[in-house]
Amino acid sequence: MPGRFITPKTLRITGLLPAILCVLAVMSGCNTENSHELGAFDGQQAFAEVEALVQFSPRDAGTSEGWKAAKHIFQRLETFGVEVDMDTFTDMTPDGEKTMINVVATIPGKTKEWIILGSHFDTMPGIDGFQGANDSGSSTGILLELARMISDSKMVPEIGILFAFFDGEEGIAEYIPGDGLHGSRHMAKQLLETGDHKKIRAMILLDMVGDKDLKFTIPYNSSRDLVQETLNAAHAVGYRDHFTLSRVIITDDHVPFLDIGIPAIDLIDFKFGSEPGLNDHWHTEADNLQNISEESLQITGEVTLQILKQIAFNQNAD
Ligand SMILES: [Zn+2]
Repeated sequence: MPGRFITPKTLRITGLLPAILCVLAVMSGCNTENSHELGAFDGQQAFAEVEALVQFSPRDAGTSEGWKAAKHIFQRLETFGVEVDMDTFTDMTPDGEKTMINVVATIPGKTKEWIILGSHFDTMPGIDGFQGANDSGSSTGILLELARMISDSKMVPEIGILFAFFDGEEGIAEYIPGDGLHGSRHMAKQLLETGDHKKIRAMILLDMVGDKDLKFTIPYNSSRDLVQETLNAAHAVGYRDHFTLSRVIITDDHVPFLDIGIPAIDLIDFKFGSEPGLNDHWHTEADNLQNISEESLQITGEVTLQILKQIAFNQNAD
């Protein structure tokens, strides 16, 4: 900062001031909430969550493995001490009516506003030996680890955080109307019917975020302000080069929220393949634990945590 001269004495006083204030705060008995810290995102823990989830494979919507996966996610969140619910619903699919389950966890904030952090957990039906480690294990593992660390920090965000684990994202008939996005459409409908959609500041969706060659291509149908917020966050934590903007429109779980006027973004790397630029692992049995990496979960987790700091915790990057 040109033109500003700081003497060593000023520096020393500046450094001492927070310590003095802290002592005064303890003496006066006021709460020390600000002493809590969010800590660092742990990609290793997130990977362990993915490993645990893919024990339930395939976990197609409306099947017993799908139900067990939902119960597993519910139990993990309960263990973290987060408020959690299972929302069971039925919906029509091209295969007939199916019963599905959204798992919804909440960390309330100081205001009545909310940010939704979403991931689906179901797998694409009809693929032999399918683990879905990237689609949908990676994003589910990251949401679980974020829920754990935020809960552990005991920090109360300004804006509440709602972790939405959607069932039935995968379409089985090329996403014709009424096919796929069952869980997210169900939640968006509930929000609209209760008027609670007005309380949702933003919806951030994670999908396919574990590819070893992690290159986010943010689809065109993402809200402009959230794109900027994401790029700022990625820059702040040193991963800006992993993000590009795409002109492609992607039908994913953020769309039902956009449709009811909620700003939403899809953080997706839609090129999951054996070589950079290819998508040949997508919806094949090569979508397994060997083809995702802890490092990519680390990058995605750090950027997502930074977005939450900016939006929910009012902590802007320096
Ligand atoms: Zn998929």
